[in-house]
Amino acid sequence: MKIAILALQGAFEEHRQMLLKLGVESFFVRNAADWERPKDGLIIPGGESTTILKLLNDLSLYDAVRNEILAGLPVFGTCAGLIMLDSKHLNTMNIQVKRNAYGRQLGSFYHEGKFDGIDRNIPMTFIRAPYIESVGNRVEILSVVDGNIVAARQDNQVVTAFHPELNEDTAVHEYFLKMI
Ligand code: GLN
Repeated sequence: MKIAILALQGAFEEHRQMLLKLGVESFFVRNAADWERPKDGLIIPGGESTTILKLLNDLSLYDAVRNEILAGLPVFGTCAGLIMLDSKHLNTMNIQVKRNAYGRQLGSFYHEGKFDGIDRNIPMTFIRAPYIESVGNRVEILSVVDGNIVAARQDNQVVTAFHPELNEDTAVHEYFLKMI
């Protein structure tokens, strides 16, 4: 199994480390040539969604990435990566997202909570995080914190508003790998 990690901006190295821990090969996508490499899944990391979107467009990767996701390439988006899949960005998931949803002061916090399909509480690090305001049909809600949706899945696409790659626990990455 080989996982592509979008490495235009943000916390891509941390995802590589998580996959290494799980013994899974990965490679960084920085341009169109990287994107052509065979892959079984894609991770879109946290960072700044406006920057990631701009770079995807500048590198003429937007359509290629979108089309492959729509064709069924499994994808895991964290934080800005969640935002990237919403109806205003790559528009592959039927979710409406509120960016920087917790305000400036409360933007970053730690929580341990439930995640559907994982049989124990998992660590959740939120950094200037979004949450999902509403979901369309076919979207399964996987985690709710303080009444806000913070993880969801639609077919082969899974997203978290928090950063599983910033804690030791590999459970959400394992969840993604099992999906593939
Ligand atoms: N606030 C960022 C955005 O809107 C997301 C933050 C993150 O990925 N940690 O893109």
